[in-house]
Amino acid sequence: MGLLTEGSPLSWEETKRLAEHVRQHGVLQFINLYKRLKDRQWDVLKWGDEVEYIIVKFNQEKRTAKVSLRAQELLAKLNEKEHADPEKAKSLWRPEYGAYMVEGTPGKPYGGLLAHFNIVESNMKYRRDEVSQLLKNGEVIMSLTNFPRLGCPDFTDPPTQPTPNEGVTRSLFFPDEAIYNGHPRFKTLSRNIRMRRGEKVSINLPIFKDVHTKIPVDESYLHSKAAEPDKVYMDAMGFGMGCCCLQLTFQACNLTEARTLYDQLAPLCPIMLALSAASPIYRGFLTDVDCRWNVISASVDCRTEEERGLVPLKNNKFVINKSRYDSIDSYLSEVGEKFNDVPLIYDEQIYNKLRENDIDHLLSQHIAHLFIRDTVSLFSEKVHQNDEVDTDHFENIQSTNWQTMRFKPPPPNSTIGWRVEFRPCEVQITDFENAAIVCFVVLLTRVILSYQLNFLIPISKVDENMQRAQKRNACREEKFWFRKNITTCVSPPEANQYCMQGKTNSDCDVYEPMTINEIINGKEGEFPGLVPLINNYLTGMDVDADTHCTIQQYLKLIQQRASGNVLTTASWIRKFVLSHPDYKNDSKVTDTINYDLLNQLKQIQSGEVPCQELLGYSTVSKTKETIPSVFSCPE
Ligand code: ADP
Ligand code: MG
Ligand code: MG
Repeated sequence: MGLLTEGSPLSWEETKRLAEHVRQHGVLQFINLYKRLKDRQWDVLKWGDEVEYIIVKFNQEKRTAKVSLRAQELLAKLNEKEHADPEKAKSLWRPEYGAYMVEGTPGKPYGGLLAHFNIVESNMKYRRDEVSQLLKNGEVIMSLTNFPRLGCPDFTDPPTQPTPNEGVTRSLFFPDEAIYNGHPRFKTLSRNIRMRRGEKVSINLPIFKDVHTKIPVDESYLHSKAAEPDKVYMDAMGFGMGCCCLQLTFQACNLTEARTLYDQLAPLCPIMLALSAASPIYRGFLTDVDCRWNVISASVDCRTEEERGLVPLKNNKFVINKSRYDSIDSYLSEVGEKFNDVPLIYDEQIYNKLRENDIDHLLSQHIAHLFIRDTVSLFSEKVHQNDEVDTDHFENIQSTNWQTMRFKPPPPNSTIGWRVEFRPCEVQITDFENAAIVCFVVLLTRVILSYQLNFLIPISKVDENMQRAQKRNACREEKFWFRKNITTCVSPPEANQYCMQGKTNSDCDVYEPMTINEIINGKEGEFPGLVPLINNYLTGMDVDADTHCTIQQYLKLIQQRASGNVLTTASWIRKFVLSHPDYKNDSKVTDTINYDLLNQLKQIQSGEVPCQELLGYSTVSKTKETIPSVFSCPE
């Protein structure tokens, strides 16, 4: 979850008073950083994944599954190896929002070798095993996007109670004790977001209407004006930030390449969200959505009524059309400029300041747009900084703009270059699936750069796609705006056969609704398909047999998910609930159904139970712990 500064958090009133201070110094810090690092060149491809997990506690006698609030205890142990010798650690562990969550990354980023694709899954397995060894009887670590009964009565182990009238969250459902307590950041954010907004956050998800579904779905509306009776109502940051996701970070060779990757991957975010959909159940109800995105977005929506456009502006500066957690609002590269069709709200003064310092229009407006937000977490030790070297104020705003893509400048005094982070994906049940998504996206970045592909469509269409991506069965049933002509003159003839010969570039700016199947697998005579393009890129590349086999299995899974031959995690979960003998066609996921569902997923993740419906026909994994001695470089 980005930056974790140590220290004592200021009260909301003090934080609010210092909002302008953080903004002014944050921008200066960015300007200084930019001047130092804008010409940094020749960084090589490095990349890494982040996987978030939930600790689930099963009770076999009572047939219940709860979240286990032991993350802090586990992290103390998990961090020991890194503390003893950061160079040797094979994994790195970080806290996340939930007191039942942990985040794991590989000990070191991967590099530009194809053979690295063959160690990703093995490292993920290593991480899972590492946590498993520390668990108590009945506890299981699961890469579940959302715990289905999060916020239901008695969903935690040990038991806790929500406190609607006090504490940081004041939720009817989500107790403060379910928030990670080993660092003040998470509780401070929860309190400040609520206070800045002027009321609790509110999330209303459409329910999946089955034949016996009752409306109102429950009694929430009697307790809260914000609750819509026909929706699944949630009122806490934990409902969103307590979800798990799968993220990827890539290092670019320089600033320009980072801007290109940021832009080119942005239209792929909704596509990958739909393809990785894994969360159809919220607060014990089957909903009509398959993904977490809108839930998190609303769960940290700190905009005031003025900013949401509900009452006229008086104390605030802007009406803002999105939460600070949402899809990106503008492209950063030159080719992206003409697709920035949504009027961008930004701080004029900050924009001018950036421009005066020779930062170009697109980057200036991006930063000035991020900086329309106030800090929502400030630590007393960090108020006064040296803007020549520190970047905490910049990071403060940057790391609480949770967007589909993040443009990451090099950290101060490090060997790390300009990076972009790909943030839309939901986390999958097995290491195999997570590795498949990760490798697919990394391969796609190589193809984008080598063939100079162009995926750009207007930002407004990307926004539309984000909403479509979350609908029930979107992966199989929805259509998404997608660019028809993605190849450019440098792309090889095989890929270029779909280019409209002799047309100018703007004639090629055609986008149309496509299914995920068409986007991933191609459409005869009309669209090449992302996997065929990757395969084309891989042809003739020197790669050892095991790595080749692994990559092909990953691509096959992606293709089968896209074609609908294999279910998305969300569809699989939905199907399990709908066909459970206890299910009463009332959209309710009871304790028993929850237990059976998680128990089944546990057996699938460990490989005890094969599941072709979800995983396709994968053969024995050939992934390795270290890269083989014979390898080849894709660059
Ligand atoms: P955040 O929480 O800001 O997204 P993390 O530190 O949790 O960042 O994760 C960073 C990810 O970036 C990890 O997957 C890590 O392996 C990867 N990574 C580390 N160094 C580099 C680098 N130089 N280039 C690209 N990725 C890197
Ligand atoms: Mg991240
Ligand atoms: Mg992280």
